[in-house]
Amino acid sequence: MAAPGSVQKGDDEWRAVLSPEQFRILRQKGTEYAGTGEYVNFDKEGVYGCVGCKAPLYKSTTKFNAGCGWPAFFDGIPGAITRTADPDGRRVEITCATCGGHLGHVFKGEGFATPTDERHCVNSVSLKFTPANPSL
Ligand SMILES: [Zn+2]
Repeated sequence: MAAPGSVQKGDDEWRAVLSPEQFRILRQKGTEYAGTGEYVNFDKEGVYGCVGCKAPLYKSTTKFNAGCGWPAFFDGIPGAITRTADPDGRRVEITCATCGGHLGHVFKGEGFATPTDERHCVNSVSLKFTPANPSL
């Protein structure tokens, strides 16, 4: 796995490799419309990586249906995700530890029946899924 912070690019470099929507969300901390993302209702087995730098972020085994309109995970791959409290202290932003790309926010203690009681609320646009078994 790439070391944390090992992928650093300027805005122009990111614009060259990301779509306008990917740039808006990953680099400008945007949010996709609820219910529109390609991974909201998606339950294939595999790994979700960062669309910006390809670092693995989440396993499909930690994905659950939170009914919130965005892909939800109860845990990330260890060391892959950085947490930063928003300036107003109300939410905790999650970013890719490797490239700093914005993923979404993490919420805790909502009462979901998962091992961590955390909900990583992630934009589908920030993710790129790789199937565990491509032949299926
Ligand atoms: Zn990344």
